[in-house]
Amino acid sequence: MQDNEYLIPWDKNNINVKYTEILILGSGIAGLFTAINLSKKYEITILTKKNIMESNTEHAQGGIAVALDLEDSPEFHYGDTIKAGAGLCNLSAVKILAEKGPDSVRKLIELGTQFDKSENKLNFTTEGAHSKKRVLHAKGDATGGEIERALVEKVRNSSIQVKENYFVIDLLKNDDNEVIGVLVLDNKYKLEAWLSKAVIIATGGLGQLYKHTTNPAVTTGDGIAAAYRAGAELMDMEFIQFHPTALLIPGVPSFLISEAARGEGALLLNAQGKRFMADIPGQELAPRDVVARAIWEQMKTGTVYLDFSYIHSQKVQERFPKIYKTCLQYGIDISATPVPVGPAAHYIMGGIRVDNSGQTSLPNLYACGECACNGVHGANRLASNSLLDGLVFAETITQKLEKEAGKLSKWEKAKPFTEHLTSGRRYKTDIERIRAELREIMWDRVGIIRNTEGLSDAYARIERLKEVFVPRIKIPELELGNMLTLGSIIVKSAFKRQESRGGHYRSDYPVPDEEWRKHSAFKRGDKHVSYVSV
Ligand SMILES: Cc1cc2nc3c(=O)[nH]c(=O)nc-3n(C[C@H](O)[C@H](O)[C@H](O)COP(=O)(O)OP(=O)(O)OC[C@H]3O[C@@H](n4cnc5c(N)ncnc54)[C@H](O)[C@@H]3O)c2cc1C
Repeated sequence: MQDNEYLIPWDKNNINVKYTEILILGSGIAGLFTAINLSKKYEITILTKKNIMESNTEHAQGGIAVALDLEDSPEFHYGDTIKAGAGLCNLSAVKILAEKGPDSVRKLIELGTQFDKSENKLNFTTEGAHSKKRVLHAKGDATGGEIERALVEKVRNSSIQVKENYFVIDLLKNDDNEVIGVLVLDNKYKLEAWLSKAVIIATGGLGQLYKHTTNPAVTTGDGIAAAYRAGAELMDMEFIQFHPTALLIPGVPSFLISEAARGEGALLLNAQGKRFMADIPGQELAPRDVVARAIWEQMKTGTVYLDFSYIHSQKVQERFPKIYKTCLQYGIDISATPVPVGPAAHYIMGGIRVDNSGQTSLPNLYACGECACNGVHGANRLASNSLLDGLVFAETITQKLEKEAGKLSKWEKAKPFTEHLTSGRRYKTDIERIRAELREIMWDRVGIIRNTEGLSDAYARIERLKEVFVPRIKIPELELGNMLTLGSIIVKSAFKRQESRGGHYRSDYPVPDEEWRKHSAFKRGDKHVSYVSV
């Protein structure tokens, strides 16, 4: 597979062309909220890979962090976010997040999201590294599903056009390097071009690059990879957050056991039944990377468990109905039996480099939500800040585009596919093998604990996989092409960063180094990862 401008060859004369004012890619919290905001001024089309609900957002459990409680304030939220970000936060973005968060969440409530209440007052809980109770939740542990439901309902009752089962492959540009639209595989498996005044990528994260992940199948990093191919700058790609506690039963898909469980009092026990976080600052609610590494260490000698028995059994069922039912399905009654858990890839702090208005390094191209990186999460995201990120920066994009979007381009202006291609020679079975191997490499070598030897090995092996793989126009192959592209960039960025900070831990450079307190940046055509000061 070559590092080309387009993932697959396409013929400019053979493509159906559609026009809309603003294109939004993805239907999670970031895409839907941006669409609702911008639909007051523009004709909006959302292109989304599967059905409208399918997203990380739908799976979010614990809640959304926001300084709305009387005991709390945006200053406290700002302080906690910066502390979690391990020296790498973009302070102006954090200020926007903490200060604008309350208004954005009020709008979400006006749009019909029903957060849990007690005695008619919003019910706030706590999670790791929050100094106040500031996490709003819905239906106990089904917060994301409730938010997605409310936003989808609003979109369905609006003029916004939604195209489900539309797989976005690449961005289209003109000769002036301006983004003019996208190339997609439509719901009948035909290539289509959509042209617009602006494109907003809201395609979420890339958890599927890892063997163990809390993320659903759609998270193959397609939007980040498409932006990279188009020449947009990526930032901080080495910073992956591993959630400490996913259900770990052989043969059973990873399923998140929310941090809110530890927030409510569940404790971590090792194979001998001993609590191992008691002497570590923050205990069970220490930052996620600290808890994940402690569990990883304990797993060398046996299974690690999360014990809910410290929470009243009735409360367990009321507060965590989704976790309770899912575990019961596998024969575990969490109110009576400790749950086997282990870390899993959960969130990427890096992504498409954007400013605080969501503008990428390419004209007419914006990004928002998990696929975007404005540095708000620094090297480690504070729990429950990502749903808020999707909301708040959807609004800053809206403010920017409300003033002015680009111009609608003509199809004749689209740069055609001109690249030289090597011939593809792989067999169907290779796809699954290559995908499994990539996920294994990422987990073993580019996971919770990294080092020079493992990263060099990972780089060589991923390059070999790229050599034998050429994607055809089939969704699993297009996804795999994106996964290989991003795997290689994550490895390069992780290799270069010779320190440990937030989600990036190197056993050969185990402490943070002030020299390295800078953002990494990489774009197509660059020989090396470069650095940008904080
Ligand atoms: C299990 C779990 C629990 C979580 N819990 C919390 C929590 O409690 N609080 C919190 O703040 N965060 C939580 N997170 C993180 C949070 O859910 C995500 O970071 C956030 O929802 C991302 O929103 P988004 O809109 O950017 O992306 P997503 O919600 O992932 O949406 C991306 C959209 O893009 C579409 N898409 C992807 N590729 C393509 C393509 N090629 N073409 C067209 N469409 C495409 C997808 O289908 C999807 O519709 C959790 C995540 C998981 C997985």
